[in-house]
Amino acid sequence: MSHDPNCIFCKIIAGQIPSKKVYEDEELLAFHDIHPWAPVHVLIIPKLHIASMVELTEAHAPLLGKMSVLAPKLMRELGVSNGFRTVINTGPDGGQEVYHLHMHAMGGPRPWLKG
Ligand code: AMP
Ligand code: ZN
Repeated sequence: MSHDPNCIFCKIIAGQIPSKKVYEDEELLAFHDIHPWAPVHVLIIPKLHIASMVELTEAHAPLLGKMSVLAPKLMRELGVSNGFRTVINTGPDGGQEVYHLHMHAMGGPRPWLKG
């Protein structure tokens, strides 16, 4: 399924739910996390609905590569200059709450709320 009408991140991509966007192209969207753990906390998502890393195939490798390359670029643009953390939570034991693949990118001066 390329789009799940019940998925909150698919609704953000479709503009049905507002978000504070920081980046968008044909394949990816990035926006500020609604409950930030760190002074800067963005989520990088593919526009394609992929529920989690468990669903990934070899064909998705370039997409994941693009997400990884985007993270440092966005951190730099958002003023993060002393390092950052990237996290992808997968499944119940991984603490995944939203089942549309997303990479957290967090930075800014510590202390942070979590992580
Ligand atoms: P995870 O536990 O990795 O699935 O993280 C889901 C993240 O999505 C959490 O950090 C939430 O704060 C964030 N989140 C949920 N709904 C929204 C939303 N409407 N806009 C921005 N971030 C959201
Ligand atoms: Zn989705």
